[in-house]
Amino acid sequence: MSIRPYRDIMRRTSRQIMVGNVPVGGDAPILVQTMTNTLTTDAQATIRQIKQAEEAGVDIVRVSCPDVESTAALKEIVTNVNVPIVADIHFHYKRAIEAAEAGAACLRINPGNIGSSDRVREVVKAAKDHGCSIRIGVNAGSLEKHLLEQFGEPCPEAMVQSALEHVRILEDNDFFETKISVKASDVFLAVAAYQGLSEACDYPLHLGITEAGALRSGTVKSSIGMGMLLWSGIGDTIRVSLSADPVEEVKVGFDMLKSLDLRHRGVRIVSCPSCARQAYPVIKTVETLEKRLEHISTPMSLSIIGCVVNGPGEARETDIGLTGGGNGTHMVYLNGMSDHKIDDDGLVEHIVELVEKKAAELDAEKAKSGLNA
Ligand code: SF4
Repeated sequence: MSIRPYRDIMRRTSRQIMVGNVPVGGDAPILVQTMTNTLTTDAQATIRQIKQAEEAGVDIVRVSCPDVESTAALKEIVTNVNVPIVADIHFHYKRAIEAAEAGAACLRINPGNIGSSDRVREVVKAAKDHGCSIRIGVNAGSLEKHLLEQFGEPCPEAMVQSALEHVRILEDNDFFETKISVKASDVFLAVAAYQGLSEACDYPLHLGITEAGALRSGTVKSSIGMGMLLWSGIGDTIRVSLSADPVEEVKVGFDMLKSLDLRHRGVRIVSCPSCARQAYPVIKTVETLEKRLEHISTPMSLSIIGCVVNGPGEARETDIGLTGGGNGTHMVYLNGMSDHKIDDDGLVEHIVELVEKKAAELDAEKAKSGLNA
């Protein structure tokens, strides 16, 4: 029994599959995905974008393969990046086979959309031969005609049925390395579809609120929909779909997981909104620190609070704390204890140094406990 049961999230039990060398589902961490928006045929630009996402911590990246030139470029892309690549295929089974041959770790394809059972067999064989998993991606906007006729409109039941029909085709071909998404741009529809699917099968689920919008509105919408699901233990991989740089999708994805204590990466900054009591410019300081600390991947916490009203309390709960004080002298807390005072000069520099030092300490401790384990 946890000492803070109100914070416990019981994850749905899912079977584990592999996407390349990365386990998905089961007791694996919840993974953060994004998708490139470069032309896949421009391998260099695509590799560059994937590397930027890697720096932000991405676990898996999806790349569109709309034509044979794209699957031809995929080989170069796959061999020049570190994360597993999911090839996004629509309809054309030959692209799926080419992508598997090119080294894709996973094929995003709906087997019900690729035609005859011979074609499905060929795709499954290619996936098996090349160690690819398959993601079934149901989207409310492109449900099969027979389901729209049966249910009258895109609804959670139709989406779940669509997913299960695609799954059955793969199972009939003795293929079980599958993860599933049932995305919709409507949060009510997406959440209900994922809830239904989570009970109907034990495959790992990839979460997304599709076409969520621009950076701010899309982040809010995704956080409401995916936050609700993650909080109830549903979801093994996530992608925040934003009309923005893929790096932003990755950052938002991690922030979402950090907020729910599901995964930690980098510095979690606790900061106050500031008010007339602030003893230094909190907003500007936090903005600068966020940028200056982007390179830190070690999980740790930092509180940046404008005055003593909330500063000491937050500092007690964080690895490093800063509380604004009178006469331009501010208190620095280390490991929850007040440690020393600093004035306005070089404040940001000083905090960056402390964070880097703490990150190095934590990394060394982790390496040591790994050796002793
Ligand atoms: S902690 Fe202090 S400065 Fe920050 S919002 Fe609260 S009262 Fe204002």
